[in-house]
Amino acid sequence: MERVIQHALLQLGDSSNLRSIRSVEGGDINQAAYVETEENAYFVKTNQNVPRHFFRVEAKGLKEIEASQSIAVPKVYYYDEPVRGSKGALVMEWIEGASTKDTKRRLGEQVALLHSSYGDKFGYEEDSFMGLLPQPNDWYEDWIDYYHDGRLVPQFNMAKERHYLPEDRKQRLLKLMERLPNWIDSSVQPSLLHGDLWGGNWMAGPEGKPYLIDPSVLYGDRCFELAFTELFGGFSKEFYEGYKEILPIPDHYSESKAVYQLFYLLAHLNLFGEMYGTHVDRILKRYVD
Ligand code: ADP
Repeated sequence: MERVIQHALLQLGDSSNLRSIRSVEGGDINQAAYVETEENAYFVKTNQNVPRHFFRVEAKGLKEIEASQSIAVPKVYYYDEPVRGSKGALVMEWIEGASTKDTKRRLGEQVALLHSSYGDKFGYEEDSFMGLLPQPNDWYEDWIDYYHDGRLVPQFNMAKERHYLPEDRKQRLLKLMERLPNWIDSSVQPSLLHGDLWGGNWMAGPEGKPYLIDPSVLYGDRCFELAFTELFGGFSKEFYEGYKEILPIPDHYSESKAVYQLFYLLAHLNLFGEMYGTHVDRILKRYVD
């Protein structure tokens, strides 16, 4: 790890002496460390066993959110792609702080500002990841086409390959995928979305300022993001109050919410296994017979 870090520091232009390296727990995928030099403090992720564009697309997503000037993200200093068995690395600004009284409200307001940053099309220009699952991307004129072809179909195919699709689940899923326009509003605008907004992917920085981390960005219906925030909890009443001060929750959200949660549940089914199957089936039974 130290060699990778020293190489990265030299590449980003910090040749001052290393003061300390300490590992940081909490990530699911990468090795992470706090790195302090005489000049600066950094958060560094490394990994040998990820596809080449893994850190590149994370860095790109962070920069895209930063450019929207809606919500803070750690500044990206450097990334290196893993090649021929060597480790890839992503070096960013070290964020440290604690929530204050209004952090969650500010998080809600600023996520709504992020969602008010619009693109021209739906999807994304680069293939990305959901955790370690590949997320194929492209630009689409139509949101429902993207949600169908770009999100549900790849998860459906993965689930089939991994034997997580017993016949009943498979048939219902196919029916639901055919009937998406029943529940999803096709007239939505392409909002910039974090794309993986669960409770572990934001943190509080200095003075309780909210930061988003670990994005998997796309342009899409903002209800897709809201639906995920509600799936496993972790976002408080203040978060939604803050959000609603900037943007109203669309009427169609109550209809589309579980249809959107289905994507994240299928990804969890494919990543972690059948323990997510019951939840998938519950949603499918509610929407299709
Ligand atoms: P992984 O990609 O392996 O899931 P994360 O990006 O989730 O890793 O980071 C792991 C943990 O490190 C997070 O839960 C968070 O506590 C901490 N962390 C992430 N980014 C920073 C940062 N820029 N500064 C300080 N700590 C961070």
